[in-house]
Amino acid sequence: MDESAVNESNVKVAVRVRPINRRERDLKTKCVVDMEGNQTILYPANGNLGKGDNICDVSFQVFAYDYCFWSMDEVEAAKFAGQDVVFQCLGESLLDSAFQGYNACIFAYGQTGSGKSYTMMGTAEQPGLIPRLCSSLFERTIQEQREGESFTVEVSYMEIYNEKVRDLLDPKGSRQALRVREHNVLGPYVDGLSRLAVTSYKDIESLMSEGNKSRTVAATNMNEESSRSHAVFNIILTHTLRDLKTGTSGEKVSKLSLVDLAGSERADKTGAGGERLKEGSNINRSLTTLGLVISALAEQGAGKNKSKFVPYRDSVLTWLLKDSLGGNSRTAMVAAVSPAADNYDETLSTLRYADRAK
Ligand code: ADP
Repeated sequence: MDESAVNESNVKVAVRVRPINRRERDLKTKCVVDMEGNQTILYPANGNLGKGDNICDVSFQVFAYDYCFWSMDEVEAAKFAGQDVVFQCLGESLLDSAFQGYNACIFAYGQTGSGKSYTMMGTAEQPGLIPRLCSSLFERTIQEQREGESFTVEVSYMEIYNEKVRDLLDPKGSRQALRVREHNVLGPYVDGLSRLAVTSYKDIESLMSEGNKSRTVAATNMNEESSRSHAVFNIILTHTLRDLKTGTSGEKVSKLSLVDLAGSERADKTGAGGERLKEGSNINRSLTTLGLVISALAEQGAGKNKSKFVPYRDSVLTWLLKDSLGGNSRTAMVAAVSPAADNYDETLSTLRYADRAK
């Protein structure tokens, strides 16, 4: 490991606030989030001072993170951080480490509608982290190729829903749950998960859009298209080096896991019952375990508690990501929040979750 890797924490935490949407603007909903440098400030949802109120009662909360990304250029253009800035801050260093042979992981956490997909996938005009990472990855495989060296890129895409794993790239379109097994050297893996070779971002794009069609979605009161599953997209980079004199060769393999997490909203707010409630508790289990794993790793990385127990096995999500989370792997978490007063409780809970992950 190089010097910088020793001194720097392997976990980066960012918060991104989405713009006020049309509905919120029409309803004149108050904006309760502000950002200054690496601090996010949350104001009370009903924080207008009334007659006789003591100014001390109107408490606001301040949280500090590695990065705070502001989206409302109409409010303060100087603070605006677009998709390019998010990629420069979080994507580029993870890509560097992938080329050095380390695994890396990026998560998007937050309530439904807070901007997770926008951050990970983005739009055709404003591509997000996944398309930028992929295009940059292919450019670099060409730039860094020397005589006797070659790179191959493979992808897998899976969904974790109710603690069960489904292959989103299964050529037969099977909806069967796959088994999670453990190899005594390579660690946990999904038995039978498709791994497809790709040579351009176009290949990846068409595979992902096929995969997204078979994702499990269920309507909740919050959002018709609300996704209740975690989607894990893995990019496996294999760097083969051949010794031209002896003819021997060796391989360096690294994995980038890009994870769009299920909405973090609490089941009671989304009007869920029965199956939905069970699903909600499984989602919460994965998200709670992920939070505990990341904060244990951050503690280890900061040198505070080297022997801190990391509860990977407590959820399928963290168990499968074990090799991309611990050791020399790099992790980035983007906590997406809404700026609107009516999402205050969810925003506070997301900011606290991100705070614990530092
Ligand atoms: P989620 O994946 O968390 O459910 P989305 O990413 O679908 O949420 O975001 C909800 C809506 O807000 C989408 O229309 C999206 O384009 C928009 N949006 C989210 N974040 C941003 C942002 N940073 N800048 C501009 N639009 C955004």
